Amino acid sequence: MQDPVNDVVILGSGPAGLTAAIYTARANLKPTLIEGAQSGGQLMITTDVENYPGFPNGIEGPPLILEMKKQAERFGTTFIAGDATEVDLSARPFTIVVDGEKTLRTKSLIIASGARAKLLGLESESRLMGRGVSACATCDGFFFRGKEVFVVGGGDTAVEEATFLTRFANTVTLIHRRNTLRASKIMQDRAFRNPKMKFLWETAVVDILEGEFGKIGGLLLKNLKNDQTFVAPADGIFIAIGHEPNTSLFQGNLTLDERGYIITKPSTTQTSIVGVFAAGDVQDPTYRQAVTAAGTGCMAAIDAERFLEAESHIVIPTAGIVMPVDRFLP
Ligand code: NDP
Repeated sequence: MQDPVNDVVILGSGPAGLTAAIYTARANLKPTLIEGAQSGGQLMITTDVENYPGFPNGIEGPPLILEMKKQAERFGTTFIAGDATEVDLSARPFTIVVDGEKTLRTKSLIIASGARAKLLGLESESRLMGRGVSACATCDGFFFRGKEVFVVGGGDTAVEEATFLTRFANTVTLIHRRNTLRASKIMQDRAFRNPKMKFLWETAVVDILEGEFGKIGGLLLKNLKNDQTFVAPADGIFIAIGHEPNTSLFQGNLTLDERGYIITKPSTTQTSIVGVFAAGDVQDPTYRQAVTAAGTGCMAAIDAERFLEAESHIVIPTAGIVMPVDRFLP
């Protein structure tokens, strides 16, 4: 026998998904949350979080997620450890397959599957993540006051992160594999004028070297013009070679932008399919903060609740006459 149809299924367990769970649970919608491959999302690889309101002394990413999870559990969220591996959004109820095994059916879906920073793919990079290696200057820049910091990349993200880091670091060296940046002209000009900024052109990061106390100690770099390698002492390296949203499951189902982010109707979390909502980094190439993710998670929960409420008032007077759901949407 099939399981009953859920009112709400949430994909993702970062701040967006967990906030959506708290709100939908408190609205008695008994949400089921599929945690995803990286339970807790990007905050699980962040050390101190000092910009999330309510924590004057800061809090580390993992305990912050744990507190949100406890809050969602308290109001009756069901958590499923695993990843959504298939979705069918072509008809309602929508179906979601978890880890190729369990199938859930749901009247509404909140996608909060997040985004991930593109990484270089070095073993040392994941080993030293949070110990000098970071992919988020806004999150971690503060800890590099007076330090020697490097940023990899040549786009707007890299130049923006590098410029931000000059507020704290002694020197910020941008490492780029080409001899020109692809960042916008205005941001380039600002970076070139900044006395704390240095540039290593046509250079690649070969390895990130471990120093004392299990933290980063330096970088093994390669000059791509002459293939010579050299070591640069470093207190930190920020990988800023772009982000990618976790939307491979939705390609061909939902309208995505050219970079793969889910497009939502302005000022709402409504996607291109009625009853499917998106929150957090999966639909946000711009802000990408824990607090903005939580904010849109709240919006998605309210949008889903209103959608279900409107749908419950659909009357089917006689067999064969179905009222279009779209009529009841805001
Ligand atoms: P981009 O794709 O624009 O740039 C990525 C950069 O990383 C490129 O310079 C690329 O090099 C380099 N890179 C990619 N892979 C590697 C690798 N494996 N090793 C070394 N270097 C690598 O991504 P961004 O995140 O910078 O920007 C994405 C979009 O967001 C852009 O449209 C940008 O304009 C926008 N944006 C706007 C901002 C703003 O306006 N304030 C801020 C941030 C982003 P190469 O040049 O050789 O390809």
